[in-house]
Amino acid sequence: MVTPVVGTLRSTATWPTGAKKVTPEWRPSANFGERKNGARPTLVVLHYTAMESCEAACRTLCNPDNEVSAHYLIRKDGHVIQMVDEEKRAWHAGAGTWRGQGDVNSRSIGIEMSNTGFVPFSAPLMDSLEVLLRGIMARWEIPASHVIAHSDFAPERKIDPGVKFDWRRLARQGLAIWPQEGDAPADMRHFVKAATDFGYPEDVAPQTVLASFRSRFNPTAVGPVSARDVSMAQSLARDFGIDQTRNGA
Ligand SMILES: [Zn+2]
Repeated sequence: MVTPVVGTLRSTATWPTGAKKVTPEWRPSANFGERKNGARPTLVVLHYTAMESCEAACRTLCNPDNEVSAHYLIRKDGHVIQMVDEEKRAWHAGAGTWRGQGDVNSRSIGIEMSNTGFVPFSAPLMDSLEVLLRGIMARWEIPASHVIAHSDFAPERKIDPGVKFDWRRLARQGLAIWPQEGDAPADMRHFVKAATDFGYPEDVAPQTVLASFRSRFNPTAVGPVSARDVSMAQSLARDFGIDQTRNGA
């Protein structure tokens, strides 16, 4: 059982000097555990709730019968609810691998955004997300390249936060990344090589990886893999891929 705590953000939270702050409403979920093997959060995973009602989503994420949760839930009006302490392991990710590693729950902080997936994300929600991300990334030294979509590491099961989410807006502020475009062969093998070098799972059908990639980086694209898809994936692999990070870049 969790003892409900009346109040605001847990005392573990600190903020960059001079940064705007959000003061989450604390509505503890029973659905969390310890991060395994002493893992620290190195990823931020963005989700949508796929529900009209934020209140209903909050109830779902706090109900012990459901065994799901997230650290944060952001309402359309920008109000931020915290359900799990950042130190703890929330249950938002499920099965999947990113950059060759599973147990994303142990390695991440999960943020749910109140959105059905069919409409743009509201401006107040995006404003609060940006403030929240700045704090999380500073507290845990998480780089912009490690702010990812649920669909990135679970492309066979998940499509959130989907084509309506504005990744470029985050990238402009250093809170996510956006690839460059250039020349590349419109060839699926080149695409898959680059996408998996960036971090997408290797055990997934190429078309599924392409659909997931496009939902984040090329949302208007249809049809066979294009030179644009390949060049963007190659840019991501080159600048943020697994080998780059191993070299400390
Ligand atoms: Zn999700």
